[in-house]
Amino acid sequence: MTEQNDTQESQQAESQTGKAGAIIVPVTLFEQNCTILWCEATKKAVVIDPGGDVAKIRDAIKQTAVQVEKIWLTHGHIDHVGGAAELRDALKVPIEGPHVADKHLLDNVVSSGARFGMTGVRDFAPDRWLAEGDRVSIGELTFEILHCPGHSPGSVVFFNRDLRFAHVGDVLFNGSVGRTDLPGGSHATLISSIKDKLLPLGDDIGFICGHGAGSSFGQERMSNPFLTGEM
Ligand SMILES: [Zn+2]
Ligand SMILES: [Zn+2]
Repeated sequence: MTEQNDTQESQQAESQTGKAGAIIVPVTLFEQNCTILWCEATKKAVVIDPGGDVAKIRDAIKQTAVQVEKIWLTHGHIDHVGGAAELRDALKVPIEGPHVADKHLLDNVVSSGARFGMTGVRDFAPDRWLAEGDRVSIGELTFEILHCPGHSPGSVVFFNRDLRFAHVGDVLFNGSVGRTDLPGGSHATLISSIKDKLLPLGDDIGFICGHGAGSSFGQERMSNPFLTGEM
């Protein structure tokens, strides 16, 4: 993703809400959407899924001039968590998430990273596991936690009811859904997570996802081939 795209993403998030802003920093060879999201009123921020390239993430934090107070993780895959322990040490902030069902992934970050030539990563535990119905906050913004297994057993979605916004990690994509061929994955479980938990929240919910461009639940409900029954 180019810097211009980063700017467009930022403007989009800000104009939707006025209360929050976000920029996306693509990290790792998987082009994972590490997201810096902040409360406009307080300029307090969270880094969601710092998968790697920690120096690049820290540069983006400086340029954005926000105060990072938390790290949130959507799930335990290496491209989402590879930089989490390093960033926690550097910023002295807690890691919240994912669901404990992804503990086996966080216990094996080093071996997962080795398969993709990612060095300097560490196994770690978060400061707080998240479960269905939990709430997390940054500044004046509060997000509800939805446990959405299928892509990985411990995937969670961060949902802000006021902003009509969700960060869905690798559960749902623009025109696709998360892969389910990795250990612990289940396509049927993933589709029911999306149809039973996410889509009922409303067509107007905009989302950022772990890879590629974001979308809205309504757009995906109507045109995503994995949800319309074409695939
Ligand atoms: Zn993943
Ligand atoms: Zn991913």
